[in-house]
Amino acid sequence: MQSNSLSTPQTTTPDDIRVRESVPNSSSLATSRESGGTQLIGTTETIDETMSSVDPGILCFQHCNPKSKVFCLELPDYCPQCDSPMSCIELKIPPFCVPFPFICAKRTQCSVIIRPTDGDFLHHYQNAADLHIGLTDSKGDVYEFDKYGLQSANRSSSWNQCLSVPIVTEIDNMWKDYWDYTLQIASQLDRWQPNQYSEDSNNCYSFVITFLRMLRVKDLKPSLNSKTQFCKDFIVPRTKNAAKYIALYRRVVKEGICVLNTTQ
Ligand SMILES: [Zn+2]
Repeated sequence: MQSNSLSTPQTTTPDDIRVRESVPNSSSLATSRESGGTQLIGTTETIDETMSSVDPGILCFQHCNPKSKVFCLELPDYCPQCDSPMSCIELKIPPFCVPFPFICAKRTQCSVIIRPTDGDFLHHYQNAADLHIGLTDSKGDVYEFDKYGLQSANRSSSWNQCLSVPIVTEIDNMWKDYWDYTLQIASQLDRWQPNQYSEDSNNCYSFVITFLRMLRVKDLKPSLNSKTQFCKDFIVPRTKNAAKYIALYRRVVKEGICVLNTTQ
């Protein structure tokens, strides 16, 4: 397993996980396409029918003001900043779809996956306390632990809008076999019986962290000391980007068109 180098997530404070209901600083979202600087989950994937059923398709373009970008769900007839008819102007940045940060669990492999405990990210997510965490095997089948005990594969439909957190950067066949094998062993532990569940001390995070410890990846060890450290290293960087997208989505739905300053 030495050939699998660990991803090196940025670390942030847990407070960053919260959704900002005020104007999101969307610069990373808006500029990710040009600079490639921001890595959102799924940005390099083709959007297929599974994805499009949940991706609202937020559009972004720029016309007359180089310091701002326009976000909308449908292109307007006139530029919201200079009132020029859109049909006869040349855009500085032609419309593109803002990368949707969420993915259907079935389309992930050997990943940690997270979703809100109730509802979905776009409409219901409020803060980190609401999150539920699970794992996928090499076929994208979900393994999760909750008050009903360990569940595998049969609940994938509730994971059609989740964040995928890859643990290693490259997944080869040897890694897939090792991941699936370890997952089978971890799943058989007695502590995942329904009566062993405890919201505070033996929960969905316990299952995921126990499994990751059993992988015995040396570089992963410091992040597995505690739930807090694991969240800081792996979860917060993903939810931080997702929170920006969610805030942008809720604002575009509410206002129709929003113009955001993207220079700060
Ligand atoms: Zn304009």
